[in-house]
Amino acid sequence: MKYKRILLKLSGESLMGDKQYGIDNERVKQYAEDIKAVHSKGMEIAIVIGGGNIFRGLSAEKSGMDRAQADYMGMLATVINSMALQDALEKVGLKTRLLTAIKMEQICEPFIRRRAVRHLEKGRIVIFGAGTGNPYFTTDSAAALRAIEIKADVVLKGTRVDGIYTADPEKDPLAKKYDEITFKEVYEKDLNVMDMTAFTLCEENDLPIIVFDMNKTGNFMKITNGEEIGTLVK
Ligand code: UDP
Repeated sequence: MKYKRILLKLSGESLMGDKQYGIDNERVKQYAEDIKAVHSKGMEIAIVIGGGNIFRGLSAEKSGMDRAQADYMGMLATVINSMALQDALEKVGLKTRLLTAIKMEQICEPFIRRRAVRHLEKGRIVIFGAGTGNPYFTTDSAAALRAIEIKADVVLKGTRVDGIYTADPEKDPLAKKYDEITFKEVYEKDLNVMDMTAFTLCEENDLPIIVFDMNKTGNFMKITNGEEIGTLVK
């Protein structure tokens, strides 16, 4: 096994599938199957999901809302997504725990680092909900923070593109994909991997990031086997 413990970051938007808003159950099911396959190899898996398919604090601020208030709403959106994924994971027979940075005792456990690690050791999939619990942050930052706290070997950022490119591949047909890149090069070339807070946190704690396309079934397995199908930042 290439990694013992991983943190998988999924954006809220990735859960939409081809829809414009909300959650596509087929997509969530596909993720659950992919996660099950990797888990069956004995890998410990923690997950952070975004909320952008439901609510984004920054966009709401632009429409006149108080930013902190809007960010808390965004954090609640991540809990909705986390619960959808938790349900799908349990439907395929996995044991899961949802731990949130904002207490919601009727539906999940509060985030306690030692407890999260214990769940992982026992083979449960751990989902971290409600981001960092603080406004003005993102779920990328939550992914970096939690990964460091639980001593994950790597952050796997599952997106709809298959890696980091010299330019936006959806706009520029000449854009080239990097197989590997350093943290320094990402700064120098002003590439967009994660927001700066998250990115710096990974760099300072020697936590590698791999960006890959999670929407192709089997890719998650390939990445965890060490196949070079995404972009490794280290
Ligand atoms: N958010 C926050 N603090 C956090 C994580 C998330 O305030 O620690 C809020 C923020 O408003 C953000 C929203 O939750 O816009 C949804 O998260 P994010 O945008 O990171 O989701 P993604 O882009 O991954 O879908």
